[in-house]
Amino acid sequence: MSFSALNLDPNILRAIADAGYTEPTPIQSQAIPQILAGHDLIGIAQTGTGKTAAFTLPILTKLAAVAGRGRGTRVLVLAPTRELVVQIEENIRAYGKHLSLRMATVFGGVGETPQIRALRDGLEIIVATPGRLMDLMGRRCADFTGLQFLVLDEADRMLDMGFLPSIRQIVRSLPKQRQTLLFSATLSREIEALTHEFQHAPKLVQIGRRSNPAETVTQWAYEVPRSRKVALLVHLLGEPTMNMVLIFLRMKHSADRLARQLETHGITTATLHSNRSQAQRLRALRDFKSGVVRVLVATDIAARGIDVDGISHVVNFDFPMHSEDYVHRIGRTGRAHAVGDAISFVTPEDHGELRSLERFIGRGLVRKKAEGFDYTDRPEVRTAGDVGQQRGQHRQQSRGGGHGGGGGGQGRRGGSGGQRGSQGGGSSSSGNRAGGNIPPILRPSSRPSGRSWGR
Ligand code: AMP
Repeated sequence: MSFSALNLDPNILRAIADAGYTEPTPIQSQAIPQILAGHDLIGIAQTGTGKTAAFTLPILTKLAAVAGRGRGTRVLVLAPTRELVVQIEENIRAYGKHLSLRMATVFGGVGETPQIRALRDGLEIIVATPGRLMDLMGRRCADFTGLQFLVLDEADRMLDMGFLPSIRQIVRSLPKQRQTLLFSATLSREIEALTHEFQHAPKLVQIGRRSNPAETVTQWAYEVPRSRKVALLVHLLGEPTMNMVLIFLRMKHSADRLARQLETHGITTATLHSNRSQAQRLRALRDFKSGVVRVLVATDIAARGIDVDGISHVVNFDFPMHSEDYVHRIGRTGRAHAVGDAISFVTPEDHGELRSLERFIGRGLVRKKAEGFDYTDRPEVRTAGDVGQQRGQHRQQSRGGGHGGGGGGQGRRGGSGGQRGSQGGGSSSSGNRAGGNIPPILRPSSRPSGRSWGR
């Protein structure tokens, strides 16, 4: 199928051609007609398969068709992190570059005056994180009475326990007559059940299996004692093909510490987490994108949506707490036409979570062992300060302060159930055995031969 068969505005078709896209991805070819027909929609497709354009192109087409009519903000896009808001805005600007639509972003950590002005001026498109938006709405800066489209990107995150109260409050101020679009790579049935609060008879467009990691990502697990994780990472980074590496940890303090350790080994590193200032976060991402640093060490605020070209490897230095996070984390590589590798460190304490993950994604991770690396466990040298800080952070994160970054609700999800918690068992085999200790129902993943969009 070609884009021209999708009834998009000619100016948008020009912008798509400028972007170099030759054909719509499956989520685009299936979602765009439904959105143009006026339906509410739940769109589920693998990471990096063009979901942003899937909602932006039809919305822009509809805005262009009635340009000038109606007043005030017509489109509100909500996303969980500031970085994602900025990225969505860049995408919308690119796809709408031949249209005269005005837009702005609203998120925390930066001055609010331009945001208040944008809301008061009723710019057509607002892309926001819920926290700052709610704050400004509470101060009556926004008028959404003419709103036509509400988009929740990373919908399952937006409807988890952390963000849900803010979303409910925002939606209460929106007109009931609107089109509501929800997009994500993962959406549990429990979270989907919540969508009826926000949508009217939504159409479901689902590409491939739910919770499927992108086929373009090759997945490996390295079994390693906790005390040897840093040494293993440094050992692996000795491999020149690991040239653009995104490393995930659970805690901000550990991320800072690991970044310092990597720097002492001469590995250029930036850090991204929600304790850093907005300027530091932007600089970290910019330096990583431009190759000034080889490694970006991050918490899960970088797991969702971020589209950085050319990430060669994602490393789960800390095994993800929730299986959905795994899918989003590793989806930072293997985007669009690229392939990438995802490496997960698995300590003996992580075996329960590994089992849960393998059930969730419906396949086993291939166990791998680094050549010439000494895996012998040894006592960790930790200072009293490290332990104290880490405890404080544990407490903060269990209250929900550790993720997000857009302000507002940042607690962890509830209600998606079923995927976390130990499922017991789990021998700790290591070695290059595809499937040695993998549940029989599960197949190891393998690198795809070439690019295909979804399915
Ligand atoms: P997204 O999933 O929206 O973050 O998009 C992932 C990447 O795919 C981005 O770099 C987009 O620019 C790119 N992309 C989106 N749609 C297409 C398309 N139809 N053809 C080629 N690349 C695309």
